[in-house]
Amino acid sequence: MATIFTRIVQGEIPCYKVAESEKFFAFLDINPLAKGHTLVIPKAEGDYIFDIENADYAEYMLFVKKVALALKKAVPCKRVGVAVLGMEVPHTHVHLVPMNSEGDMSFTKEKLRFSPEEMAEVAATIAANM
Ligand code: 5GP
Repeated sequence: MATIFTRIVQGEIPCYKVAESEKFFAFLDINPLAKGHTLVIPKAEGDYIFDIENADYAEYMLFVKKVALALKKAVPCKRVGVAVLGMEVPHTHVHLVPMNSEGDMSFTKEKLRFSPEEMAEVAATIAANM
């Protein structure tokens, strides 16, 4: 059965898309730690990031970097935090979170809520900076 993230890539489940290439896809996290919290995934399914073959891993990280640079321009912050958890969704994903303090990366804190308009606007701004 397809993962929830594959269903997002295929357009079966809606998302706020940020970027897409032949092999990778980026979209806003539905339960963000900060405005602009983005997930970057390989389109190919696989649970554990370190199972990815070296050449694909390098290509994936370059795509993650490109999205992170666009995110930093779109959402002013001290830096963009990077995290890999995978405790909930068994499809490799990197979290990119605009950070101003260490606490912004705390995955146990209460998630933020933004209106559909705010989510669409931030996704479009990141996309425009790609
Ligand atoms: P993790 O697997 O890294 O522990 O957490 C999965 C992340 O994916 C969570 O931050 C969660 O909010 C996000 N997520 C789970 N389901 C969806 C979804 O259907 N759409 C989007 N945009 N994000 C999701």
